[in-house]
Amino acid sequence: MNMSNSLVWFRRDLRAFDHAALHRALTASNRVHCVFVYDSGILDPLPRDDRRVRFIHASIASLDAELRRLGGHLIVRQGRPLEVVPALAAELGVEAVLVCADYEPEAVERDAQMAERLAADGRKFLSLKDQVVFEKDEVLTLAKGPFSVFTPYKNAWLKRLASMPETLASYPVDQYAHNFAPPPLDAPALPSLEEIGFAPGEPPLPAGMEGAEAMFEDFVRRIADYGRARDFPAQDGTSRLSVHLRFGTTSIRHLVRTARQMMENGAGGTGASVWLSELIWREFYAMILARHPHVVHQSFKPAFDAIEWESGMDADELFAAWCEGRTGYPLVDAAMAQLNRTGFMHNRLRMVTASFLTKDLGIDWRRGERYFALKLNDYELASNNGGWQWAASTGCDAQPWFRIFNPVSQSQRFDAHGEFIREWVPALASLSAKEIHAPWLVAQDVLADKGVVLGRDYPFPLVEHGAARKRTLERFAVVKKAA
Ligand code: FAD
Repeated sequence: MNMSNSLVWFRRDLRAFDHAALHRALTASNRVHCVFVYDSGILDPLPRDDRRVRFIHASIASLDAELRRLGGHLIVRQGRPLEVVPALAAELGVEAVLVCADYEPEAVERDAQMAERLAADGRKFLSLKDQVVFEKDEVLTLAKGPFSVFTPYKNAWLKRLASMPETLASYPVDQYAHNFAPPPLDAPALPSLEEIGFAPGEPPLPAGMEGAEAMFEDFVRRIADYGRARDFPAQDGTSRLSVHLRFGTTSIRHLVRTARQMMENGAGGTGASVWLSELIWREFYAMILARHPHVVHQSFKPAFDAIEWESGMDADELFAAWCEGRTGYPLVDAAMAQLNRTGFMHNRLRMVTASFLTKDLGIDWRRGERYFALKLNDYELASNNGGWQWAASTGCDAQPWFRIFNPVSQSQRFDAHGEFIREWVPALASLSAKEIHAPWLVAQDVLADKGVVLGRDYPFPLVEHGAARKRTLERFAVVKKAA
């Protein structure tokens, strides 16, 4: 496609290197404009101190600075993209709008409408793969259908990559920088957080391309140990790059290329290949969402929609206690405290808390999923939905429904010394490594000597795990035949 004047619309791809849409625009036209739209439909319902908006805001500043270094700049608008983008395209007189593809069902719908509106004005809309290495139809079974089990999907994914390594080639930007439209002299300053209606504040982690790269460089030094350390929430064992992957401040090709090089030259130990598997889980869930959009509201396996979850006021109270970290199970409460205070939760704890909500409290996974969506800095529909349906056993390749995490043994195994619990539930800080996982089993006088009174300083457990487990097995019996 040749054009003289084009517009790149940035969404969840907030970087100016290895960028599919920017590369295509710069190689096909000699006047490339860039825009980011604060979508009022997404922003309006958010709390005014939303951490993700702070992250986006800081990343936008970094993107604009990099575009200016290259000779361009970022136009920032606020409103409904379906109105703002066609109007800007007309104002700039561009022939085409280019984007990196977004696979979430609402984004797909919006982009289809965008293409129609632009076409009505005689403009093209071009959507390019960027967010994943392989899209929904690129890794298929021998029968040309989608996979629903992870391991064969992963094997096919790796095989496809081995047969077409060029898939990981970077989309260079710098060498075509002369094709950026220069900033006008009267270009307005980027809007502040207050100007877009949010409270001022720092992002929850280093933002922008530099933030992502600094975090990745730090992780690369630790990657060899990832396979061992990644399961222990008190350790700095994982990359914490999920927020950067969510907002595209790093490139998936760059991460996969580095992991593969470290696997090949032995520098990544076994950790690099375990980490690559996690990146493939992300693509697996993106594929599941794209191929089976019903998972947004229903179980992947329809038989599981027959499950009768707890409802009514009791269920509301149990749910509120879970949200607020008042379940009486220290590891669960510590995890929820970490989520509520920072917007992050370690993967092991996402599994433990999701299992606890659905299988100890009997609450519908969709309620937990929505709570995570509200709180997680790295919230992403595909991975969140996949993770919740995995834990609730309603998803593809999920935890078998009769396998129910024991929150105490998970705690003894993955926070053996109680360090994580002590950090997030200070009321229990004086308890020993043996006592801290199940304080209700400790004699009251021993607890009192340590300044802890159950029911005053820390709650009694909401449910007894053995009894809850029995109820869950009964509840799931409706799917016994189908499972
Ligand atoms: P690392 O261990 O360093 O992994 C590297 C990257 O691989 C992650 O950044 C992420 O992009 C991807 N990844 C890792 N594990 C998974 C996984 N199980 N599924 C899909 N991708 C994975 N991840 C999100 O990005 N957004 C979510 O909203 C989300 N919700 C989840 C909800 C539940 C109930 C569960 C069980 C998991 C969820 N995950 C989600 C997956 C995982 O917990 C996070 O990606 C991970 O904890 C992020 O930390 P990290 O970047 O240090 O991960």
